[in-house]
Amino acid sequence: MIETGLELAERHRQERDRERSLDCRRAHQEHWVVLQREGNASAFNGYCWTPSAYSAIRCRHCGRVWRTKANYVRHLPDAERGTP
Ligand SMILES: [Zn+2]
Repeated sequence: MIETGLELAERHRQERDRERSLDCRRAHQEHWVVLQREGNASAFNGYCWTPSAYSAIRCRHCGRVWRTKANYVRHLPDAERGTP
């Protein structure tokens, strides 16, 4: 199968994301902070706080942001207000 330039670019992006997240999980755990603990407030729900099983985590080393309901969240510190 011949990939179009767009498909190729998308595949490369996914591979890069995967490598980045592997690096993050392997080496950056001490930099992880909780942005939103067990809930979310986004444009999606009009910025109203909505409780959820998922917390938003940010890596302050590489900037990766993701949502998870894994147990390790309870051991992570909360992000300080006003810090990127
Ligand atoms: Zn990271």
